[in-house]
Amino acid sequence: MSGETEADRRARYLRVNRYDQVAEWLDTIERFTAGNENDRTREYALSQMSWLDPVDPADPAHPDNMLDTIGRQLLESMTRYGIDPAPFASLRIIGTAHTDVTAQLNQYGDGSALIMVSDAVFVALNMFCRFTTIGIAPAVVPEVFKRLRYLRRASKRGSVFEDEDIISWILRYYLIGQRLEGSGGQIILFLNPREEQIFNALYASAIRFVIAHELAHRALRHSPERAGFGPGVEVPACSPDQRRELEADWLALRVVLDDWRRQIAGPANLVQDMEVFSVLGIVSSLLTLHTIEKAVFVRNGHTHPSAEVRGSQVLKMAHPFAASIVSLFLPSLQRIADRASTFDEMAALLDWPRIKAGPYDIDRDMPRDHVEFARYLDAAQCMPRNELLARLQRSGPAIANGSTCLRDGRLREGLRAWNLEEADIEAIVDPSQALTFHSLVEAVRDGWKRLPLTDPLRDDASIAAASLIVENLRADN
Ligand SMILES: [Zn+2]
Repeated sequence: MSGETEADRRARYLRVNRYDQVAEWLDTIERFTAGNENDRTREYALSQMSWLDPVDPADPAHPDNMLDTIGRQLLESMTRYGIDPAPFASLRIIGTAHTDVTAQLNQYGDGSALIMVSDAVFVALNMFCRFTTIGIAPAVVPEVFKRLRYLRRASKRGSVFEDEDIISWILRYYLIGQRLEGSGGQIILFLNPREEQIFNALYASAIRFVIAHELAHRALRHSPERAGFGPGVEVPACSPDQRRELEADWLALRVVLDDWRRQIAGPANLVQDMEVFSVLGIVSSLLTLHTIEKAVFVRNGHTHPSAEVRGSQVLKMAHPFAASIVSLFLPSLQRIADRASTFDEMAALLDWPRIKAGPYDIDRDMPRDHVEFARYLDAAQCMPRNELLARLQRSGPAIANGSTCLRDGRLREGLRAWNLEEADIEAIVDPSQALTFHSLVEAVRDGWKRLPLTDPLRDDASIAAASLIVENLRADN
């Protein structure tokens, strides 16, 4: 096709591909909601899917058109910052149907570029912004005395959340799926109409920041062919140079805040609130991506600066009033993110009865076997070392043999005893390659399929094996 750039060609392919993916996802939703009496859950799940609906490409609500619109608005703001618009002439932004969380900028030999944001980014940001909303909503009331009463209560219990454990378990439920399968299920947190309004502002800001960050890499002419966030060995998670990440954040933040300020006209207190929401949305997006990265990656080829470093840069650039409010919320948000993404013997395991009995409006009719299975998977990846070994020793001689090697620090030998593919072994031990937990579990399961096993394969055994490999890799560093 004449005049078609590499980015156009790639976008065209992804768009076609999306139709199959969406069909598959809708099928999963059917299965997930079967037997669940709660219609709200189904509605919610389908509303998340509406993002994927293969509607008429000319419809402004089509995800790609929305991404285009957001991109155009952000670019206008960038141009006002004196950024040369030339590199954007051949840039496309497209949503991809992926269950893993990825946002990346691909730059091609013909000078064109493509920003790809996976649908899972929107799902994850949506979830995290709900938590942030629940935390901030009680403080966003016109009555000053109510605000003060809330803040006093929050400071007394040391958290903006009425029950911080529960919020962190709701996040954990999602992370268990992301870590083990590269696809996370959700315990849905419902919002009331007033909370929805706050949520919309936070969420819009979070999405814009993710896109603006990738645009900023292009604007700042960061040279690697690919930059971005994402699991998978073939995609480096952002560029190796952390300074570049902070530069991209810096420009993205400028642009998102500028974009907000232009859109909001109203009384000063509204403008002030919107600035707070905007900054909280941005901080939420940093925490979301950081938390998923921490849960999913055993090792990053190229890592982002920590959420703390990125977050503190955001606060420095925000209006002092917004910064002071956001810094009240930050410690609670950081704690839930941290606890939810800790998978070791110190972890607080998912506790469905407590979640169910808690103060939040969640889907209490979730099928029990879903939550019980999640709890079982959670426990399997948080066993202490001696239990890991004991679990594997009980799994028949073929598996026990490999685990003995791993116990003694002979990683390669153990992986060979477990019949892992040579290419998988190389990928696991190569410190320069990104490695996800779910790719480890998969490699182990593949290897074990070729072993003469006495026991049927059990999930907790392969998860224990992956955890033991992680321990060995840590010990090597
Ligand atoms: Zn980046």
